[in-house]
Amino acid sequence: MQVFYTITELRAYLAAQRSEKKSIGLVPTMGALHQGHMSLIEASRQANDVTVCSIFVNPIQFTNQDDLSRYPRTLEQDYLLLEEAGCDFVFAPSADEMYNTAPSLVLDFGTLETVMEGAFRPGHFNGVGIVVARLFNIVHPDRVYFGQKDLQQLAVIRRLVEDLAFQIEVVPCPTVREADGLAMSSRNRRLSPEERAIAPHLYRALSEAQERLLNGERVADVIQVVQDYIATVPAFSLEYFEVVDARTMQPVDEVQSEGHTALCVAAHLGPVRLIDNVVF
Ligand code: AMP
Repeated sequence: MQVFYTITELRAYLAAQRSEKKSIGLVPTMGALHQGHMSLIEASRQANDVTVCSIFVNPIQFTNQDDLSRYPRTLEQDYLLLEEAGCDFVFAPSADEMYNTAPSLVLDFGTLETVMEGAFRPGHFNGVGIVVARLFNIVHPDRVYFGQKDLQQLAVIRRLVEDLAFQIEVVPCPTVREADGLAMSSRNRRLSPEERAIAPHLYRALSEAQERLLNGERVADVIQVVQDYIATVPAFSLEYFEVVDARTMQPVDEVQSEGHTALCVAAHLGPVRLIDNVVF
């Protein structure tokens, strides 16, 4: 496995791979890697000759400076995990390398970002879109791997690829969970043991809501049930719970056709903001 810190060097190596007609898979991450990330690496390895993992804590997608400064950074451990997983190239640029000058371009994803993460973190998806577009132009991947854990982000990336005609296949990967249901996340490391013990309530609330909707209960009633359930765990502060169309991210008042209803939740637990979703 080779680690690159500069765009020029990575580009040179990847140009050589492309000239040998090798296909390239890209897995963009912010590091502090876990098995969720590794499942993306594995998916890329299976479909491509070469897998590139980027590790970059992208300052322009953070809407809270405290969250940015406390974001876990575990580069040396990340390299070990990636090496073990069979990743070929790691791209770990500094912020100066990634943004020689601060981008002036502003991306607006319209109604995709007027709800949930977009509404609670204004400017977040602009930052995501810009860094991902830059990574696409640096790596020129054939396929790119994103987790369904960040469902709205996945929708935004699909839109980016569509609108800017990137010749890249976007491959969604299922959410990897801990044994107790908690969705794996780099931010989970910041939970205290007490917070970690109650964190799985978020997934339990989603599962309960899914079951009720499948049993024909009304969306409005189920939303109330979830709000009441989260309220029974005082350490949680619920930011949103939405029942949406998984293609448009718009709230719905009844369950959509198969595979298109998503339940999305965000809540603060101690110092950490957790998000999760289920699609059914
Ligand atoms: P991050 O490092 O949190 O920006 O995540 C990098 C990529 O890994 C994104 O596409 C995430 O959706 C994905 N990811 C994060 N956590 C998980 C998980 N638990 N299961 C599957 N994919 C994940």
